[in-house]
Formats: sequence, structure tokens, C-alpha cells
Amino acid sequence: MIRVGGIRVSLDTDFSDLVTLCVKKIRISRERIKTVRLAKKSVDARKKNDVHFIISLDIEAKGEESLLKSLKNAEKYEPVRYKVPVIENAPYRPVIAGFGPAGMFAALVLAMAGAKPIVLERGGDVDSRCRAVEEFQNGGRLDTECNIQFGEGGAGTFSDGKLTTGIKDRRIGWVFERLVEFGAPDEILYLAKPHIGTDKLRGAVKALRERVKALGGEVCFNSRFCGFETENGRLSAVSYIRNGEKHTINTGSLILASGHSARDVFELLYDENIDLSQKSFSVGVRAEHLRKDIDRAMYGDFAGHPALKAADYKLAVHLPNGRTLYTFCMCPGGYVVAASSEEGRLAVNGMSCFARDAENSNSALLVNVDPADYGSDHPLAGMYFQRELEEKAFIAGGRDYHAPAAVLGDFLEGRISRKLGRVKPSYRPAVRFAPPEEYLPDFVCESLRLGIKEMGKKIRGFDDKDTLLTGIESRSSSPVRINRGEDLQSLSLKGLYPCGEGAGYAGGIVSAAVDGMKCAEAVCERMEGQLNSI
Ligand code: FAD
Repeated sequence: MIRVGGIRVSLDTDFSDLVTLCVKKIRISRERIKTVRLAKKSVDARKKNDVHFIISLDIEAKGEESLLKSLKNAEKYEPVRYKVPVIENAPYRPVIAGFGPAGMFAALVLAMAGAKPIVLERGGDVDSRCRAVEEFQNGGRLDTECNIQFGEGGAGTFSDGKLTTGIKDRRIGWVFERLVEFGAPDEILYLAKPHIGTDKLRGAVKALRERVKALGGEVCFNSRFCGFETENGRLSAVSYIRNGEKHTINTGSLILASGHSARDVFELLYDENIDLSQKSFSVGVRAEHLRKDIDRAMYGDFAGHPALKAADYKLAVHLPNGRTLYTFCMCPGGYVVAASSEEGRLAVNGMSCFARDAENSNSALLVNVDPADYGSDHPLAGMYFQRELEEKAFIAGGRDYHAPAAVLGDFLEGRISRKLGRVKPSYRPAVRFAPPEEYLPDFVCESLRLGIKEMGKKIRGFDDKDTLLTGIESRSSSPVRINRGEDLQSLSLKGLYPCGEGAGYAGGIVSAAVDGMKCAEAVCERMEGQLNSI
């Protein structure tokens, strides 16, 4: 098979007949083509008067060697195949704490390997979770065990479902293929910036869970991991609480994939002398613009073309104060959501549906914070710093989970906002006007002021005075790292596999899923070794 890249096609291209497209664009005769597949598709909007697609095609053809010599941008292409490990007569059932992307893909690999994993998930299944989130967003009670952070599918379930990642790993293709198998749109296999949307992601999460169960795995909801036992310096049992009752499972392996919001887990590990260290993360606000303004700024006159989805962007500016302001987790046509998981503490985030057709487009605007900002060398100091900011945001919002918001023009002029501009808040239950100074450190506010103006030079209207800033965005990544060795086990305890974003080894859905797979492989390898030594 050969891959031909860099093919420029218009937005009006008909992708239903790829053979004809191939004949026209690459000038291969129809008779030579055996199969052709769209491998990549991206939007090139660098020139606003010439927005088009750039595509790559995977082609099986007669005489590929001669084509490789004659075609521009052609290379030999071998699809990467991932082989799931196999374990016969597993010496115990491995346990996984957390059913976010890391835990789900760890469970899937272990179940396919024949190891019959047991998953403990503190929150409910997707359906009960949707009800809990809806109740909270309607002004009802915050369920601290089942919310936007906790429950089946993890933090990513109520997300934009962006599948872009900075990592390079042979497992990524397998993750995408499984997601499609479980109901995600197959365009994620070729789009340069794939996304699923919260609506479709929920279905995929359920289907993955059913597959794990069908393969002999167990997924226990409302079951909070609460401790472990050791024997000869190795993990020997895992405890969890369900309906107020404590249960214990004897096992030799725990994949700990509890995410960055399980602060009780970090405290438990600290009390158990597990090796932890401080980690940098970022804090800031969510910026909301009108979707049509962002589309216009990114696509010019092509905005609204039926072949284009809502526009995204990615910006970063390095500031004279030594900080960086950058956009993160951009949600075109999405919503700002209530991402709190603790009483008296408030956090926001962003999500969107597959259609990305909501009124506003939003993105986190984050400033990096480092251990030097935490004011202590305690391994959990970053988490306490994060908590303190979330408490301030809760108070600034009026102590009822309304989010503190400011209109950009007022923030830049140092005024407290009194009325909204053109951008209406999408956050539910509601926002209350309060300046970022009430909950963010001075250096973050200064960075926002300096950086947003710079960003306005890169994207027209980004610094529009009506832009809405809603806080606090504080859960961008983990403030703690659970240190592990090359065998992926904790430096302090054999059998404990710190995994995913909470452990500091992933950032985002795809890298968390890949890390889950790696930990599952490491567990299989160790079980194999244990079997051989019996
Ligand atoms: P998590 O997803 O956090 O999963 C951890 C799981 O562990 C949770 O289900 C939790 O309930 C469970 N748990 C916690 N403590 C315990 C315990 N004691 N016992 C049992 N279970 C426990 N990333 C992207 O790549 N694209 C996006 O578009 C995107 N949008 C996002 C939008 C929102 C609103 C949020 C909150 C996050 C978003 N992210 C996005 C980030 C992404 O969701 C995370 O990077 C990813 O989910 C991390 O995966 P994880 O499995 O490591 O942890």
C-alpha cells in the first residue's frame, strides 16, 4: 500500500467516489487502482480567501514501486497492528480503580487478554451520571461521588471528546478503531482533528463496558477504592466501599487510574508513604465568544460553508513576566460546564456535542503554575493550592455553584461587570459577576490581561470587549505525580500501577487510554512472570 499526502482539494469535493478523486488528483489510471481509502483530512485556512482541504489517500495499486518513484508526496505505508497480550490461567484477577479512558482501556486489554479484571468505579453508570449532572446543572445538589469528574467514562464523558494528542504511540490507531467499533463516528479515523462529542461518547463508553463484561470482566459502580494491603512489600489486597460497607479483594495488581480529581486518593497514598511528587499545572478561566465570530475570524468568507465544521483555534503567547498564556481544550459550538466535585469548591470546564452547533465557542485560557508558586515542598502542595483557588471561586460565585464571570472589556479596564455584552453565558445553573482578581492570583490576572491582547492580534476579535470570562478553570492536569519505574509500578510498592492523568502520565482522552493499555500490558507481563516462577 502507498500513502499519498499533501493533496489539495476544494471544500466542494465529493468524497463518496474516492477512485474518481484518485484518478483526477493523482493521475493514476482507474485500472491500476485496487483499493483507495481516505487516510487524513485537514482544513487549510491559513489564507482566508482560499480555504480548502488537504488530504492523504492510502492506495493499493498495481505496480506500487513505480508509482512510488513517479508520484510526489508518496511513501510506502504499512498499517500498524496492535497485538493484545494473552494470559492463560491468570494467577489472580487484576483490579482497576477508575473507569475513565485510562481505566476503560486497561480493562478492555486485560479482558481481551483473558485476565477477567475487576473495575471499581466510585461514580454511577453513564445514565445515572447524566441524571446527577443534570440535577446539579439545574441548581440542585452536587453529588460528590457522581458528577462531571466522577462516574463511568471518567472526566472525558462530559467533554468535547477531542481526540487530538501530542503523543506518538503505535497503540493510538487501535484506540480509535475500538472507539469506532463502539459507536464513535468513523471520520475520527481520518480527520486531522478528530472529535466525538459528549453525545456519541456516552454510547461508546457503555458499549466498551458491555464488551469488558462479555469477556468475563466485572465493572462495579458506586464502589470507591479506599485502601490496600501488602505482604512482603507487595500489594496483596484492595479495599473498596460500596453502600457504606467495606469489601476486600485479594489481588496482586492494582491499576490506579482514579484521575486528577480524586484528591482523597492522593491523601490516602501520602498517608501510606507512596512516592509522590509535586507537578506543574495551569489555572485560568474559560473564554466564551460567539461561534459565528470565531468561524468568521478563522474561515473568512468561507464561514458557514456546509463542508466546514465550527472552527477551532490554538494559541499560546510567552509573556514578559516569564509566564505563558495558552488556550486549552477548545470547544467549538460548545458549553461551559460545572466541573466541581467537592462541596464548597467550584471548577469549570468545556464540552460540546458532535454537531458543535451551540451559540458560543469556548476555550480555557490558562497560565502555567509551578511548584515555586505553591509555597511549600509538601508533595500535595499543588493540590492544596488548587483547592484554595476553587474555594475562592465558590465564594466569588455566591456560594451556590453559580460561576464567577466577567466581561472582558470590564476586566481589561479594571471594572466590575454590571451587564453582559453580545455573549450570553452557557454555564448552568448561572453566572454571577465577579472579577477574576477575587479568585485568581495576581500573576495569573496580569498574564490574562497581557496575553489576551496579544491573542487578539493573532485571531481577529479574540480580545473583543464582549468576550465572557468564566472561572475557575483549575483542573487542566494533575498537580501531583505518583512516581513509577520503568516497569510502570510504583517506586514504593510492587503491584501498584499508577496510571493515566491523575498519576501524571497522561493529559487528555487518547494519552490516558494509551497509558491504560501500557499498564495492562505490564500487568500481563508480570502475571506471566509469576506463573512461570510457580
Ligand atoms: P479520569 O477520566 O479522570 O477518570 C478517573 C476515574 O476514576 C473517574 O471515573 C472517577 O470517578 C474514578 N475514581 C476516582 N477516584 C476513585 C476511587 N477512589 N475509586 C474508584 N474510582 C475512582 N480531554 C481530551 O482529550 N479531549 C477533550 O475534549 C476533553 N474535554 C474535557 C472536558 C471536560 C469537561 C473535562 C472534565 C475533561 C476533559 N478532557 C478532555 C480531559 C480528559 O477527560 C482527561 O484527560 C481524561 O479523562 C483522563 O483520563 P483518566 O482515565 O486518566 O482519568
